[in-house]
This record gives sequence, structure tokens and C-alpha cells, in this order.
Amino acid sequence: MKQMWSSWRSQYIDSFKDEKKDNSGCDCFICRAIKNTDVDKEKDFLVVKRQANCIALLNKYPYNNGHVLVAPLEHISDFTLLNSKTLSEIMELIKRIIAIEKNMFNPAGFNVGVNIGQAAGAGLPGHLHFHVVPRWNGDSNFMAVCDDIKVISNDIMKLQNTLYNLLNQ
Ligand SMILES: [Zn+2]
Repeated sequence: MKQMWSSWRSQYIDSFKDEKKDNSGCDCFICRAIKNTDVDKEKDFLVVKRQANCIALLNKYPYNNGHVLVAPLEHISDFTLLNSKTLSEIMELIKRIIAIEKNMFNPAGFNVGVNIGQAAGAGLPGHLHFHVVPRWNGDSNFMAVCDDIKVISNDIMKLQNTLYNLLNQ
């Protein structure tokens, strides 16, 4: 494969470098969920767990049933800015979610991943988030299924309630 230099793109790429880290003025859906302080409204934001440095919420547009997002509280897009404490808290929470969903759904496997940047497929590139997606034999390809929303909102609300209770007991 030949390499093609496109130095004119550096300005475009550099424009992402100054993205602000603090989420005081941020209005992304993860920050909106983080900023909610009303316990009764946790379900509206699909929050299933809050921790000192991260939050877990359901994906409103899931690839599969049980699709959970885990994100740092800080609105950052740069993976290298995640500190070790936050990263290990996120990983521990992902582990708990997998353990619970294994019992709940008995899936054949899981995808755990993070899309860093729009070019990598991040729907919300400004706020890093890990995807936890249960997989079954015969379900569709990880990325292709996003066109096919199989889960109705009723199921999402029920799942939010169940996961919230299990993760907060
Ligand atoms: Zn955010």
C-alpha cells in the first residue's frame, strides 16, 4: 500500500487538541446524566451505577440487549488522559456488569471496547466511553447491528431498573 501525505489535514486534526476537559458547560448525554442529582430521575438518564470516578448507563440505541456504556466522569476524548485510578475503576465496574449480565442473559460472549475518535466510529467522540455488549451465537456483526434496533424502550426501562438494583445493592 502506498503512503499518501496529506499535510493539509493537520490543521483539521490539530483543531481537536484543545477540547476542554472540564464538563461544567458540557451538554453531551453522558455529562447530562452525570450532572443529574435527582435519584428519581436516574431512570430517565438510563443510569445504572455511579462511582467516584465513573458512571454506567444503558445505551439508548443498543447494538444488542444489555448494551451498557461506562464512562469517566470527566468529559475527555483523549484516552491517554485517563488516570490509573479512573481506568481501574472503569475496568472493575465492567467486570461487575459482565458478571451480572452473565447471570441475567446467559450470553455466549461479550464485546468490550472503546472507539477513540470519530474516525474510529465513536458516536460521541468528545466523551470517552467503553461499550459492554453481550453477544449470542447467531446475532449479527458487532457494528452492523446498530442499524437494527431490536430492543423497545419498555425493555430498556425494565433493564435499567434491574441493573440499577443489582449494581447498587
Ligand atoms: Zn461529556
